[in-house]
This record gives sequence, structure tokens and C-alpha cells, in this order.
Amino acid sequence: MKPSLLAPLFKDLSALQGVGKGTLFCLAQLGIQSRFDMISHLPTGLLERRRILTITMAGDGDLVTLPATILSVDGLVSKSRSRSPRPLRIHCQDRSGQLFTIALFRANPDYVARTYIPGQERLISGRVEHFKKQLQISHPDFVGSLEATPYWEGVEPVYPLTKGLTQKRIQGLIKENLKGLPDLPEWHRESVIRQYGWPSWKQALNDVHKPEQEKDLSPIAPTRHRLSFDEMFANQLSMMLVRSQQKQFKGQCHVLNTEMREKFLQILPFSLTKDQNKAIAEIDKDMSSSGRMIRLLQGDVGSGKTVVAMMAMLTAVASGGQAALMAPTEVLARQHGHVLKAWADEMGLILEVLTGSDTAKKKREIYAALASGECHMVVGTHALIQEGLTFRNLTLAIIDEQHRFGVEQRLKLSQKGDTPDLLAMTATPIPRTLMLAAYGDLECSYLREKPANRQDVDTRVISLDRLDEIMDSLQRALQAGDKIYWVCPLIEESETMEIAAAEERYCVLKERLKGFQIGLIHGRLSAQEKIERMSAFRSGDTQILVATTVIEVGVDVQDATVMIIEHAERFGLAQLHQLRGRIGRGDQSGTCLLLYGKESGHLSRQRLQVMKNSHDGFYIAEQDWKLRGGGEVLGSRQSGLQNFRFVDMVVHEPLLNLAHQEAHDILREDPSLKSDRGQAIRILLHLFLKDKAMSYLEAA
Ligand code: ADP
Ligand code: MG
Repeated sequence: MKPSLLAPLFKDLSALQGVGKGTLFCLAQLGIQSRFDMISHLPTGLLERRRILTITMAGDGDLVTLPATILSVDGLVSKSRSRSPRPLRIHCQDRSGQLFTIALFRANPDYVARTYIPGQERLISGRVEHFKKQLQISHPDFVGSLEATPYWEGVEPVYPLTKGLTQKRIQGLIKENLKGLPDLPEWHRESVIRQYGWPSWKQALNDVHKPEQEKDLSPIAPTRHRLSFDEMFANQLSMMLVRSQQKQFKGQCHVLNTEMREKFLQILPFSLTKDQNKAIAEIDKDMSSSGRMIRLLQGDVGSGKTVVAMMAMLTAVASGGQAALMAPTEVLARQHGHVLKAWADEMGLILEVLTGSDTAKKKREIYAALASGECHMVVGTHALIQEGLTFRNLTLAIIDEQHRFGVEQRLKLSQKGDTPDLLAMTATPIPRTLMLAAYGDLECSYLREKPANRQDVDTRVISLDRLDEIMDSLQRALQAGDKIYWVCPLIEESETMEIAAAEERYCVLKERLKGFQIGLIHGRLSAQEKIERMSAFRSGDTQILVATTVIEVGVDVQDATVMIIEHAERFGLAQLHQLRGRIGRGDQSGTCLLLYGKESGHLSRQRLQVMKNSHDGFYIAEQDWKLRGGGEVLGSRQSGLQNFRFVDMVVHEPLLNLAHQEAHDILREDPSLKSDRGQAIRILLHLFLKDKAMSYLEAA
């Protein structure tokens, strides 16, 4: 339940005067569904409207307001709205006697007759065009009596629009909505407000819609700065509330089994890195404590997360529980399954792989084995969260590439057990800032160090102009035994075009490199086909694999040595880094060619240089974040950052630590937010719809 103070902000938009289905639809396109959404729609520009005495004072394209007398209306014939492509013309004369016309297309005759009465003087505001030596205003923004509002001059905000909405309309709607703004109690500490010179919440919202100069539009103008801080603070606080609540859930109390671990370490053909050992120790601590483990394991492709996951799974099994690992794609699930099953077999444990393409019979068998507890571990895709699949006692859920699953799906896996411990894994390193912003103080383990014998990939940034040369040089590389990935350009708008590009490249290469086997893989293939083509490449039956970006994160073909990426500038650095991580995985060194298009700009060239100079995924992610900014780093949507109204994470990053600290402090002083300030903060949380956090708070 939202406090009644906030009710006006969340009243239905349709209750507004003159807002019908059409307008509601347009507003929804802009993400505006409530009145608070409406006033959160910030101007992106400003326009100056000048008051002038005669129209000759206006240059072509000027926005002006002036008094003029209506002389006659031309073309007003029928009663119905004109469908004629020709405009209706209204002849006017300004006070100096200068003539001009107003042009109206598809005008409503009633409106015209009411508004433009010959012989009367009107105040007219609009953009002046010099049209065939004539002066004209088409579709004036305002027409009214001479005493009309002073709003018709001066600076006005310009808002992002969508088809079907005009500037005038949205300006009006926002103005209307600003009227009912409640006075809310201050939720920030006074010293913080003073330090930054911020206006009150209400003042900030009012002023943000009345920019006077360009600098008022800046994200660090006091109004916007304050609104962003409000949002960031609310966000940090709600994540902390949710987390502290979750920690109170009783989790699984696992027992560490040294004997089993030692056996496992003996099976491994290598010894663990320092980071792997540290991550395992952190996981052990969580798993053996009574609270619930919620931990994120971050490490580049090839950093060795699988072994860490296996260790955790062994702990679950040794404690009499079961473990499940869910991966986002069939290819990945099979690959994990392949590695883990071999280990499990040697340990004398039962591990099954379950995916959508298993036969009904196979599925039934696995279901039975999981329900009885006969099967200790399972690796799979979404098949793991189907209805009807039950575990005897699932105590550990691992989610690989966690950002590729929705909250719902992650939750569903958890619900297969009784608050199982949770380990999420990601190969997309998340810069600290983003981490804090998107997940609050979620606990993390890092694998920064590369397993021994891994060599840096020789990376070159080359113009696509040299494509021919490069294709020729492949002949030599193939003769020397190289295995090559050829990644085709990312085409955001259309998967079909992307596949077409890959098919074309495939044909060209086939033509040029007779005597070598070439494979093609893309997203429209069935899971079975993808697996077959990957394994043909793994076994060496094909030597070049032409691919769209479907060559999944984590796909492991040990002896692939060369990767060519067309139009590398279209990819995010984190994505390039992941792609590149797919080569040079064995003992041979790898080569990666990043081909950029002619039209790519300086900035994108600079980004590619980062790739050339670094192999540290965390560093690359930071740089990408700095060069490109925010949400894109994590592949947009999943980052959780898209939901901000006011915050521009790149610009407002300096506020993040403060928001975090303030949230931390208030929860320490007043954990249930009962004090006066606590009450004000509750209102803030409601404002930003953190209902989830609120329900926890109310339950407490
Ligand atoms: P990730 O899942 O993090 O991308 P993997 O777990 O698939 O990485 O490991 C990549 C490769 O490195 C695998 O072939 C794995 O056997 C190997 N590996 C893992 N840990 C080590 C280590 N400590 N020393 C040597 N090789 C390792
Ligand atoms: Mg992996």
C-alpha cells in the first residue's frame, strides 16, 4: 500500500482531462504509465520563443509570438475535416501592415471557424517560414486572445517524443501534472543536502521542467543531480533490505568432506590456482554456515570456474544433498555435462545431463533418479525447471551465465529445493560500479588469475579493406594446422540478415579454400545441428567454423588457434573479450584479427586498441564502461540499470558510494525505518516502486 500522500502521483492517467486511448498508447511508448512517470520524463533540449511586434523581425525558422489581425479564411468548404492534401490558408496582417498566411493541413472546420474570426486580432505563436518569398506559419503552436499567457514567450523545454504526440501536447500534460505535486518530507540528511546545494524534491521536479539555459539540462545540474541521488539511494537501500531479509532465511548447513575433495584433486591433471582456492574457501564458508549462500563467481572465459563449481557440488553431495547446474543453452549444458560427468564417473558419483532434446524415455529415467536421490548431480538447460521434475533433496543450485536467465527462472530453480544454497557464475566481468549499482553488496568471488600455461592471444586491429589478403593468408595457416573461427558481423536489427551474411562468407571461403572443410553455425539451427557442427569442428572434421555470434560463451574447443571477427567495432569489448577467450585455450598460442569497417569512428578504433593491449577481462570491462557508458556493458536489459529514470550511471557514478554509504548508515541506525527520517525514506522507497523491498520491511 502506497502512502496516501503519494496517491496523486500514481492516479490513473486516463483520469486526466482529454487523455484518451490514443494518447495513453503514445505515452506508453515513451514508458509513461503513471503521473510520476510523466513528470519523470525530462526535457532534452530547450527552445527560445521570442515576442516580436512584426513578422519581418523573424528569421526563417524562428519561433515567435506576435499579434496579428485575421483577414480571411481560404478553402474552408466542407463541414467535415478536410482530406485534401492542400492546406487551408488563413490570411493575416500584423500591426505594421505586413501580410502573412497561416497554413493548416487537415484542419477541423469547427475549430477553424471558432478560432480564426475575420476582423479580430489574435496572438499567434509558431515557427515562421519564408516560403516562396511569402511569410508563413504552418500549424501555430498557440492561437489566443491578446492577454494570452506569458508562457508564449521565453524559453521552453523540449521533450523526447513519439509518433502521435506533439511538443505542445506533452508540455501541456507535464505542466498539468506538476500542479498536484505533494510536499514530501525530506529523506536525506540535511548536511548532504547542504553540501551539494540541492533543492527540495518538489522544487527539483518543478525546476527540472523549466530549463533556462543549456546548463540546466546537464545531468549534474542541481535539480537532476538531486533526483538522481534520490533514485540511487532508494535503489541501494531496497537492495540492502532485500538482501538482509534473504540472509535471515535459514539455508542449508553443509558439511565439508576432506576425503572426497582430496580424491577429486587427485583426479585433476593440474593443481588449482590461488584464485580458485580462494573462491572455493569462500564458498565453503557460505555453504557450511547456517545462512543461505547467495554468491556470484566472476571469472573470464577459461579462468576455470567449472572446477570451482564441481567442488561446491561435491560438498552438497557429501552432505547428503543434490546439486543442479543450469546453463543457458544446450551447447553449454552438454559441454559442462561432458566435463563434469567424466569427473563424477571417476569419483563413483552419478551425474546426468538433461536438456530439452532428450527423448521422453530418457527424461523419465532422469526424473525418477532425481526424485529418488539415486542421481547426485544434474547439469541441464531450462529443462531443469520444468513442472514435474522433483529432487529428493536439492541443496545447491548453480546458475551459469546467470545474466542470461530471468529472475523468474532463477527463482524456479531455487524452488526445486528447500532454500538451496545459490551460486551464480558469470564470464562477463562486471565493473565494480556496475556491480554495486545493479546488485548492491552481493557477495562475489573472483578468478582473476589465468590457469598456468594459458598464453595471451596475439591481437591485431586491421581494416576490413584487407579482407582479400586475409582470406588468402588463411591457406597457409590451415596448412600449418590452425583451426579457425570466423565470426560474422553483428547485425542488431535482424537475425535473418546476420545469417545471410554468415552464409555468404561461408560460400566465399568455400570457393577460395578448396581442399579444406568449412562449417557454418548460426542461431536458426536446431540444437542437434549445432551440437553436430561444434563437434565436427572439435574433432577436426572441419577446420574453419563460420559463425554468427552464437558461438557461445564458454564453448571449449581446446585447439582452436585463430579467430577472425568482422566488423569488430560493432561488438562490445566484453563480448569481444569473450569471443577471443575461445582461442588459445590449449598450449598453442592464438591469433585474433579484429577487422573494422571503413565507416567506424575514432572512438571505436580506440576501443579496439584496448583489446589489443589487454587481456584482463576486468580491465577491459572497466574501459568499455568508460568509453561507451553504462547499460551496454552487460548486454543492456539484464544489467538492471535500464530501469533508472533519472540516473545516468556513467555521469552519476561519483554519487554511488555516497548513496551506498547513506543507505548502509540509516539501516544501521534505524533498521526498521521507524524514526522520522525513516518514515520519510519509506515514502521515497514507495515513490520508486520498490514494493518488493517494502513488503519485506512491512513483514519485519
Ligand atoms: P570457464 O568455465 O571459467 O570458462 P573452464 O572451467 O572451462 O573455464 O576452464 C577452462 C580450461 O582450463 C579447462 O580446460 C580446464 O580444465 C582448465 N583449467 C581449469 N583450472 C585449471 C588450472 N588450475 N590449471 C590448469 N588448467 C586449468
Ligand atoms: Mg564455463
